[in-house]
Amino acid sequence: MNRNLQTECPVLVTGGAGYIGSHAVLALRDAGWPVAVLDNLVTGFRFAVPDDVPFYEGDVSDADLVARIVSERGTRAIMHFAGSVVVPESVADPLKYYANNTAASRALIAAAIEAGVPHFIFSSTAATYGVPEISPVSEDAPKVPINPYGWSKLMTERMLADVAAAHPMNYAALRYFNVAGADPQMRSGQSTAGATHLIKVAVEAAAGKRDSVAIFGSDYDTPDGTGVRDYIHVSDLAVAHVLALEALIADPGRSLTMNCGYGRGFSVREVLDTVDRVTGAAITRTLEPRRAGDPASLISDPSRIRATLPWRPQHHDLATIVAHALGWETKLAEMRNAEGDNG
Ligand code: UDP
Repeated sequence: MNRNLQTECPVLVTGGAGYIGSHAVLALRDAGWPVAVLDNLVTGFRFAVPDDVPFYEGDVSDADLVARIVSERGTRAIMHFAGSVVVPESVADPLKYYANNTAASRALIAAAIEAGVPHFIFSSTAATYGVPEISPVSEDAPKVPINPYGWSKLMTERMLADVAAAHPMNYAALRYFNVAGADPQMRSGQSTAGATHLIKVAVEAAAGKRDSVAIFGSDYDTPDGTGVRDYIHVSDLAVAHVLALEALIADPGRSLTMNCGYGRGFSVREVLDTVDRVTGAAITRTLEPRRAGDPASLISDPSRIRATLPWRPQHHDLATIVAHALGWETKLAEMRNAEGDNG
């Protein structure tokens, strides 16, 4: 991409202090895009945003704030990561998800249209598919979410499709599979406490923060009986956002909905074996019943993203994903110790 096009397209990243958003900020900055961050720091961390990136603390639903940022920064594209992401919490408190993911997105999209922002990239999820009948799952598969989290994201996809048909804006909805790992240079990683995702939980156990890892279900119809997922490295995912933005700029009349996964799956046991191999130690495993709402297997069909973007994943090896997640876990422990020593 021509450098001028980048400097002419300042990007606002919402949720840029969070896990995936902070990696998108790094990918944009590494590729020379002017970038600013809007984050309310409810689950994000100020330290996750580089000091030279303009930072605005606030809510994406604050129309006046978004208007001010767009005017101050000359924003031409919004990457919208801010939102709530815990599936069981969405079942217990659905209105929180429809507020933070659906209503807040509506407000942000309205502010973007009002300000004439021409490109919008949205964090969507494989949870929009529910329990797919066919795996690998393609974008055209039925979208029947099985939890409010998936619905809250699917509704925002629908809004974007309707808005893009009515206004001069195009969008990319990227449906993430299982995001894991950390920036290879250890500038960011997954920092939120109370993790529930398998690779994060496993590296916490490997780092001594937990005694064991529960395997939720060993009687699935999968090769070893445990759940199979398509784990994608967060930095490869971040680069996919940058490439999607280039595609939106190149063809303003076209919007994109794409799976983000590698198209291959690993079982829970394979993930835990990989963690053991990387550390040279064995995590204690316990066998637990299936977790409600877990499909046996969720693997993306990545044909569309492969055909649409020049996306060439760099970190798809599972041991690399695990090693980077583990590296970040170690760094996080050092940072927390230093914080404890200082205060
Ligand atoms: N899983 C597990 N133990 C854990 C966390 C997850 O066995 O502590 C399993 C889960 O049942 C699923 C897979 O690991 O088969 C991935 O779950 P995760 O929560 O990481 O992501 P999800 O696919 O639910 O979004």
